[in-house]
Amino acid sequence: MPGLCDYRDRVATFNLVEYTFDIDVRRWQRREFLTPNTTFLTLWRTDDRRCCSLRVRVISEDQVRLIYSLRMPGKRWQRKEQPIKIVWDSCRYGGRRPWLLCPVCARRVAVLYLGGISPFSFSCRRCAKLKYQCESSGPRLRSMRKAQKLRRQLDGSGALEEPFPEKPPAMHEKRYLQIKKIALSAEEEWFRRSAYLFRALERDS
Ligand SMILES: [Zn+2]
Repeated sequence: MPGLCDYRDRVATFNLVEYTFDIDVRRWQRREFLTPNTTFLTLWRTDDRRCCSLRVRVISEDQVRLIYSLRMPGKRWQRKEQPIKIVWDSCRYGGRRPWLLCPVCARRVAVLYLGGISPFSFSCRRCAKLKYQCESSGPRLRSMRKAQKLRRQLDGSGALEEPFPEKPPAMHEKRYLQIKKIALSAEEEWFRRSAYLFRALERDS
């Protein structure tokens, strides 16, 4: 299987979210991948169409293990395994929602990035010290920025990996729901355009 390879060069160069390998628990949940004792593979396509991959073993509802290989430029391949904890929230209108716990700061986030304190392990965007790209390019980034802007209107941080902001006290419920609807559809668009491919679930043997 291909490893997570020289994309680390890019992170060092750009330090941008868009060029970093990330994992998003919302995608896993949406595809019903969080079934204990199963393994799935997530692929990430770089701009120049190379693929990197990461194997995710679902130990239990509350823990996954990330398995991947990578190397720094000019160095040997290293195989890595990193356990990640998952916590569950109940949603206001029923159902449950998973969050990943950042292994460094223990914040609940939907997305973890490869980088941060150790260049060989996953952490949240803050710990990884990554920024969003500034210049607009393409519909994927435009929908991302639109969603961020709307979150900020609701006094959120604009970070899409964080829980959706609650209604600001001074705002009418109707207005809040209007903004939320537009923001969520922009986020949906961003997800849809993200260059992710998943392979079907495999049972652990
Ligand atoms: Zn963190």
